[in-house]
Amino acid sequence: MEFDLIELIRQRTAQPRDDVRLGIGDDAAVLAVPAGQELVVAIDTLVDGVHFPRATAAVDIGWKALAVNLSDLAAMGASPAWALLALTLPSADSAFVEGFVEGFSLLARPQRLALVGGDTTRGPLTVSVAVHGFVPPGRALTRAGARVGDAVLVTGTLGDAAAGLHALQQPVRNDEGRAGLREFLIGRLNRPTPRLAAGIALRDQASACVDVSDGLLADLGHICAASGVGAEIEAALLPRSSALLDLHDDATALQFALGGGDDYELCFSVPASRLGQVQADLSRLGCGVTRIGRIVEGEGVRVRGHGGAWIDTAQPGWEHFR
Ligand code: ADP
Ligand code: MG
Repeated sequence: MEFDLIELIRQRTAQPRDDVRLGIGDDAAVLAVPAGQELVVAIDTLVDGVHFPRATAAVDIGWKALAVNLSDLAAMGASPAWALLALTLPSADSAFVEGFVEGFSLLARPQRLALVGGDTTRGPLTVSVAVHGFVPPGRALTRAGARVGDAVLVTGTLGDAAAGLHALQQPVRNDEGRAGLREFLIGRLNRPTPRLAAGIALRDQASACVDVSDGLLADLGHICAASGVGAEIEAALLPRSSALLDLHDDATALQFALGGGDDYELCFSVPASRLGQVQADLSRLGCGVTRIGRIVEGEGVRVRGHGGAWIDTAQPGWEHFR
C-alpha cells in the first residue's frame, strides 16, 4: 500500500529536469548542482492541529507545506529546483494523498520544481518538505546586512493570515457581504504566495531579508539581532488589505499586522540610495511593496502609533500572537 502511495506521488508530481540524474524510486536521489551556483537548502515541518487547523483540506496542506519552504528560499534570493517530502499519515489514505499532491503540484509546476524523493510513514499527520535552490556564489540574501539609515520594506499586505485563522475560529454567520472577505483572508492563510521573484530581484539590492512567518515584530527582530541594529516602524505605513480593515477595527488590524504569523511576505532593508530602484523593480513584479520604517542604532523593533507615540509592543499578546 505504501508503495502505491509513493507511485501515486511520483506520477502526479512528475517534472522532468536535466539536473535530476535519478529521482524517486531508488535508495536516494542523484542531483547535479549547476556549475557556478551555490546550493541553498531549507526544511520545514507542518504538524496537524499545530501548523494548520485540523479541518484543513488536503489540497491546502499540500500547497502550504511547499509554500512555507519556498518562502525560505525566496528570503535568501534563491531560485528553487528540487524538493524532498516526508509524509507521516495516520492511514494509507490515497484520497488525502491525491489532494495533497494536487496542492503541492499547483505550486511546484510553474516553478519547474522537481520532487526527487522522500519518506512515507504511519503516525499522526505530519508533513516535512525540504527544498533546494540555487544562488550565484556569494549573493544569497541573509538577515545580517542591515545598516543604520537603510529603509525597511515589506511585500504584499500583513495580518491577513492571522485574520483568516481568526475567521476560521468564529462561528460562520449568514452574512453574504462578509463571506467574500472571510474567504480572501482564509485563502491567505491556506495558500500563501512565496515571493520568489521578489527575492531574486532583491539580490544585490537588499542589505538584509527575512520572510514573515512568525509575525513582523518577531521576524524583523531577527534582522535586527543578526545585523546588530534596531528598527523603527510606523504603524500608519503598514500595508493592510481592505478585507482585513473591513472586518476588523484599526487596533485589531494593527495587532494582526504586527504580531500575526503565516503571511509569508518578505521584509527587507535597502540602502536609501537604492530605494527607488527596488520599489520600481518589485512593483513591476505585481506583488506590491511598501516602505514601513527604517534601520536605526540600538536593538529591537519599535513601533510608532498613529498619534506619534511609541506603542508598547512588549505587553502580553503582541509577540507570537497568532
Ligand atoms: P528506502 O527504504 O530505501 O528509504 P523507501 O521505500 O522509503 O526507500 O522509498 C522508495 C523511494 O520512494 C525512494 O526513492 C524515496 O525517496 C521515494 N519516496 C518515499 N516516500 C516518498 C514521498 N512521500 N514523496 C516522494 N518520494 C518518496
Ligand atoms: Mg533503501
